[in-house]
Amino acid sequence: MPIPERIVVRAPNWLGDAVLSLPALRDLRRSFPRSRIEVLARAWVAPLYGAVREVDAVRESRGVAADAEALRGAFDAAVLLPNSFASALAAWRAAVPERWGYATELRGPLLTRHPRVPDGARGRSQVYYYRAMLAGLGLDVASEPDASLQCPEDWADRGLTRLGDGGMGAWIGLNPGAFFGPAKRWVPERYAAAGELLARRTGARVAILGGADERELGEAIAAGMRAPARVLCGETTLPELVGVLARLRLLVTNDSGPMHVAAALGVPLVAVFGPTDWRETAPVGDRHRLVREPVHCSPCLLRECPIDHRCMRRIAVDRVVGEARALLDLNGAVPAPKSRVLGRDLQ
Ligand code: SF4
Repeated sequence: MPIPERIVVRAPNWLGDAVLSLPALRDLRRSFPRSRIEVLARAWVAPLYGAVREVDAVRESRGVAADAEALRGAFDAAVLLPNSFASALAAWRAAVPERWGYATELRGPLLTRHPRVPDGARGRSQVYYYRAMLAGLGLDVASEPDASLQCPEDWADRGLTRLGDGGMGAWIGLNPGAFFGPAKRWVPERYAAAGELLARRTGARVAILGGADERELGEAIAAGMRAPARVLCGETTLPELVGVLARLRLLVTNDSGPMHVAAALGVPLVAVFGPTDWRETAPVGDRHRLVREPVHCSPCLLRECPIDHRCMRRIAVDRVVGEARALLDLNGAVPAPKSRVLGRDLQ
């Protein structure tokens, strides 16, 4: 196989999966150290790749027709990380000479190389799924997976601005929402109680994170606390969210995109899992505690619970707070937020 000089990587569409794709991107860079590697990603995850050294440029994906137009004549190879037919169709319509990916969703005829999905792919992290594809192409994935992320300096400054008051002092984050659906959300009143206890015991202030749709949820949680809380739901762009996360001493979160970003930044976190499969979507790294209840129906992978949401309702506040305290004690020397910040300008 000739070495492709210009490679485009079609990125996953979910923020968490985008974080879990970082080891594969680094594998690709090691395999093709002199090639130009660009990432094609949807608008809501594209900025993340701007913080990754191994990536030369980031393009925004705007649908099959626009992507095909943008890719035509610009690349020698396309690496398709999503399973979707559409991502393969765009590369095929653009006549990218090499089109690599799993032959999922009947897209095999559109690909020039399609390694077999490995046995046992289910029940393991997405990190493994993406890297196994590269291994199937004969690329080197022997090193330890590196899913780390460093926050660019200007993103850190923007995060501080969002926190207000210069953002100084210690902050604890709560991430009570989940884009996928309500089944993934731990009980809001318990978020409020956990935030209150942690704020009191650590002297930290509380930042409540989330999207615009979660504003009401964030405000209800803030209203349930006596300690002051800054509700940032719907107020942060992705770079600002990364900047805020990099500032945190601790995050309490549901299984979500921000959870993966925080883990990649090395922020200590307690993740509350219910209907999702913790073996596939647990955060990477060793600075987290995972809390879950082994009910018979979990993981169900449903967006809404058809019964009584016991996977979440059986998780008490003390359990989450206890894990948080243990984590903070274990990581007594939590690095200053600045050490999570990459000292370079983004182009
Ligand atoms: S069915 Fe079970 S695992 Fe799924 S959301 Fe409901 S309680 Fe949780």
